[in-house]
Amino acid sequence: NVRVRFAPSPTGFLHLGGLRTALYNFIFAKKHGGTFVLRMEDTDQSRLVSGAADGIEDMLEWAGISPDESPRKGGIFGPYQQSQRLDLYSQAAQTLVDKGAAYHCFCSPQRLELLKKEALRSRQTPRYDNRCRHLAPDQVAEKLGQGQPHVIRFRLQEGVDPFEDMVFGWNRHEVAAVEGDPVIMKADGFPTYHLANVVDDHHMQISHVLRGTEWLISTSKHLLLYQAFGWTPPTFGHLPLLLNKDGSKLSKRQGDIFIEHFAKSGSLPEALLDIITNCGSGFANNRTGRKLDELISEFDSSKITTHSALLDLDKLPEFNRVHLMQRIEDEEKCASLVKELQVLIEDAYGPQVQESDVLHDPYIRRVLHFRKGHISRLQDLVTPAYSFLWVRPCVPREQLEGVSSEAHAIITLVLELLQRHGKELPLESLSPELKVLAKKMKATKYSGVMKFLRLALSGHQQGPSVAEIMVSLGPNEILNRLQRLL
Ligand code: GLU
Repeated sequence: NVRVRFAPSPTGFLHLGGLRTALYNFIFAKKHGGTFVLRMEDTDQSRLVSGAADGIEDMLEWAGISPDESPRKGGIFGPYQQSQRLDLYSQAAQTLVDKGAAYHCFCSPQRLELLKKEALRSRQTPRYDNRCRHLAPDQVAEKLGQGQPHVIRFRLQEGVDPFEDMVFGWNRHEVAAVEGDPVIMKADGFPTYHLANVVDDHHMQISHVLRGTEWLISTSKHLLLYQAFGWTPPTFGHLPLLLNKDGSKLSKRQGDIFIEHFAKSGSLPEALLDIITNCGSGFANNRTGRKLDELISEFDSSKITTHSALLDLDKLPEFNRVHLMQRIEDEEKCASLVKELQVLIEDAYGPQVQESDVLHDPYIRRVLHFRKGHISRLQDLVTPAYSFLWVRPCVPREQLEGVSSEAHAIITLVLELLQRHGKELPLESLSPELKVLAKKMKATKYSGVMKFLRLALSGHQQGPSVAEIMVSLGPNEILNRLQRLL
């Protein structure tokens, strides 16, 4: 029974690295018919950022990788916020104390500070000297009786067993050799990450821990905790880092790696999921355009490699383009794109949209079909280059006459052409028809006719082909635009 979890600390909003960890967990769960859990590790009260927990869950929903159990959804192993499970951690810590695997430590912050300074002076890594390990039981009882402030530390054993990581293979870190005994319960009654994480993974029956590679060196410590409790540990798999394409760290300070930024600027969730899995590993091949169900079916955890994944965000527009095209081709998804685009058009051009059918579904749908493959975001369609689709251009008569002296003849022939067709103009036959039309002109060449029509219909001298412009606008709108010129 596969149960995995994404366990962020709500000390910030969801960024690309976090989304990727969540995604691999989601994919792994779905691949094996398992459960994907979201757990908030909010025990470091001093670092909480307000709104972050909700923001993270919102963004997972946006991305379409909705957890099965979560703070908001609940579930049989809840609550899913660590701050609401404090009793569980103090009981667990007490269990370890009773077993002699953990002990109360009364060392003052001043003493710890001094230890640190001494170590740094002699160029050593600061570590706790485990002094309180050696307190006699009656000394401990007396200090507790006096209500002395204290923490609980875990007695690190020497000689850790190796474990087999799903990605990195056999591993072990002799933690006791490099660290002092770690605090598991803080003086404020909150557990530290290591204790809460292990206790919850056990109680939530997590089968596989897939997390960032930065936790690989902590795993031996976690395994010692499992051993001390007498619990069977989950299987661990550490995911390689996600870096910029030049190998530098994806910086949260750049601000543009937060998922909300991508959502707000018109990126499609499926494009984001595709790009962050494409640069990494876990798949036999890399190809653009994989949707979530294909990510699940094509994923192979044995293909995750240990080298870092290099993310090239310059390629995001291309991923967006491909996925937007797929959405447009899907009847149901296209319907909601139409609604979204309607809002964008209203916002951008509301008062200028004249009495016409440009805000109606069929018109917008037709535009989407003719522009798919050329745009990477819906927003692209409300940029100046495309405003002609929604707002009739105002082209001075002299400018048009400068292009061709046969305006009247061209327009009359185009109106005749429209009459021959019904409500839709066929793209394939339109170009040849326009060629035939141009041959009938006396003083204007084919290129001049095209230039004239493009200007009259779009107000631009460049842009999509005249046939594409005509098909997008449709007979009604062309009629309106040309008749005004007669
Ligand atoms: N709360 C930890 C983090 O923010 C979770 C690490 C883990 O998955 O064990 O990354």
